[in-house]
Amino acid sequence: MSEFEPSSTTQKHPWPDAQGRYGAFGGRYVPETLMHALDELERAYAGVRDDAEFQATLRDLQQHYVGRPTPLYFAQRMTAQLGGAKIYFKREDLAHTGAHKINNALGQCLLAKRMGKRRVIAETGAGQHGVATATACALLGLECDVYMGTEDMERQKLNVFRMRLLGTRVIGVDSGSKTLKDAINEALRDWVANVQSTHYCLGTVHGPHPFPMICRDFQSVIGREARRQILEREGRLPDTLIACVGGGSNAIGLFYEFLGDAGVRMIGVEAGGTQIVPGMHAARFAGGAIGMLQGAMSYVLQDENGQIGATHSVSAGLDYASVGPEHAYFFQSGRVTYTHASDQEALDAFQLCARLEGIIPALESSHAVAHAAKIVPGMPKDQIVIVNMSGRGDKDVQQAAKFILPDEEL
Ligand SMILES: *Cc1c(COP(=O)(O)O)cnc(C)c1O
Repeated sequence: MSEFEPSSTTQKHPWPDAQGRYGAFGGRYVPETLMHALDELERAYAGVRDDAEFQATLRDLQQHYVGRPTPLYFAQRMTAQLGGAKIYFKREDLAHTGAHKINNALGQCLLAKRMGKRRVIAETGAGQHGVATATACALLGLECDVYMGTEDMERQKLNVFRMRLLGTRVIGVDSGSKTLKDAINEALRDWVANVQSTHYCLGTVHGPHPFPMICRDFQSVIGREARRQILEREGRLPDTLIACVGGGSNAIGLFYEFLGDAGVRMIGVEAGGTQIVPGMHAARFAGGAIGMLQGAMSYVLQDENGQIGATHSVSAGLDYASVGPEHAYFFQSGRVTYTHASDQEALDAFQLCARLEGIIPALESSHAVAHAAKIVPGMPKDQIVIVNMSGRGDKDVQQAAKFILPDEEL
């Protein structure tokens, strides 16, 4: 196959199978009451996946509302400073609402509308997925309720106000640790009770089948564009792709179209926190084990008794105890290499990128930039690296200032 032909990923990568499994991972570990809702969603999605009218509507909104295609930008000054391979950024930070999450939220809300649902619910941790879902619902005239732990609401007041401004009800969850996993439980409970009117818009490539597949498909626009853009720009495929991995949606979004290209190396970067010691990081592949969380089999940070472990990251979007099942499959098969960057390395990359390129990356994306900064100097100058700039850092400026300017009051 010539490099200039479209990628044959979909033929070479038949996952998930009919049971929603990626090798040994994924599946549907949910109570019987949820099966009906998941079956209905799977059927509805199968109906739109190759539907020309649905896909045309989605493409139109991606172009005129989200601002796609996002640019593939050659980071000239960073490349010169690091003195190795050429660095390109895929600029998801320039998408409407400032990150890749809108790709999935818009696709799922359009699907909800097609299914005749008038209401959408979502879970949110830091608030980014909540804002993306609230935005898509405002655009499409859907009612929207977002579940959020009260602890997270306190930490992310600005995003709570954003969602309310967009016409969404933010429902505080006061149980458990009052954070993301409690919000997910409440959203699932709501979905079971109101499935006739309501779609559950899950925010990453996790959860029971078919969510990881649906989210991957909607995010894979990132890699389809990047593959075409780099071929236009350089006349060849990249050597290495780098993306940060929280649940894993921006990473799979970039990687998916390149899976059939054997010469393209892929690296996922998890949150290394302060050190790889239980409770101080969120690097599931470095410190986790196979287990079940959020309805899917994957890698999970847990103790010897299978209790979900505490996590830490400077970046809220990477701070989660489990990772999408398709990543677990790529980890086991070796197709993707997983590594981690520490809080400090991410904060250094955050500043480096701001100073050299005039781009303030999200702290999540800064983990990917940090890994690029580690490996690029050792790569030949004729090699090409694409880093997924999953989001912009405006939301993180105050958090970063606490570390960078500890004595100043913001
Ligand atoms: C939410 C978020 C992430 C992490 O989620 P993935 O599903 O792993 O992509 C990464 N970057 C940004 C900017 C985010 O908002």
